[in-house]
Amino acid sequence: MIRGKTLLGFDFDLTLVEQDSDHRILALVPETHQKFQSLYDAGMQFTDSVATSLLDLHARGIGPSQILEALKTIPFDDAVRQMFEFAKSNNADIVILSDANTFYIDEVLKAKGLRDYVSEIITNPASWGEQGQLIVKRHTTEPPHGCSRCSPNLCKGKEFLGFIQRCGVQYDRLVFTGDGRNDFCPMTKLGPRDVALARTGRTLAKCLENEQNRAQISAELRWWTEPSEMFQIIQEILNTDAN
Ligand SMILES: [Mg+2]
Ligand SMILES: [Zn+2]
Repeated sequence: MIRGKTLLGFDFDLTLVEQDSDHRILALVPETHQKFQSLYDAGMQFTDSVATSLLDLHARGIGPSQILEALKTIPFDDAVRQMFEFAKSNNADIVILSDANTFYIDEVLKAKGLRDYVSEIITNPASWGEQGQLIVKRHTTEPPHGCSRCSPNLCKGKEFLGFIQRCGVQYDRLVFTGDGRNDFCPMTKLGPRDVALARTGRTLAKCLENEQNRAQISAELRWWTEPSEMFQIIQEILNTDAN
């Protein structure tokens, strides 16, 4: 057993990058973005709406190179790079759980030189079709994950615990950081020694305004607004663990 090891679980969009990657790519063509919004508003599941809209984006002439360029230039705060470097030098592991897709996250991390810092990326699988269209599928299909807190494509709580089980490390402390409603579930899986890092002003914050929801988190709950504050809290946690 390895003692004193911390696992840092992160959401991706608006946690590690400062813009939602799905919206950034679909907004390459405003008509496509509008189509996505109307599909989603009409009740189509999020991943399915993205997948359908990506085919529309391709039909309107957007290919791999434009998508790649938009990913490489996504707004990114350097505090995230410093945080990953700090985590690595303090023997912490990093796992990403996201409703985006493998291609977006891989390419953004590669562009920032951070891919090797991440043990695993758990998200919707993406691949390129023969015509150069990006094909995104749900992470979870059959059997359904059965979690009523989460969207059918991914239960971040179940996946976070699943990663811990299969990686074979006995973590001393778990930290989960996110901004969205879908980051609530993994935070409910944390214990009293663990830390939930919620970003202010977004859908997770709204969810945690509800007393009954907040009561489901037994971990210490800490708030951040800017990535530099998230980095500062992670530093505090890892420095405490080292002592
Ligand atoms: Mg997010
Ligand atoms: Zn869940």
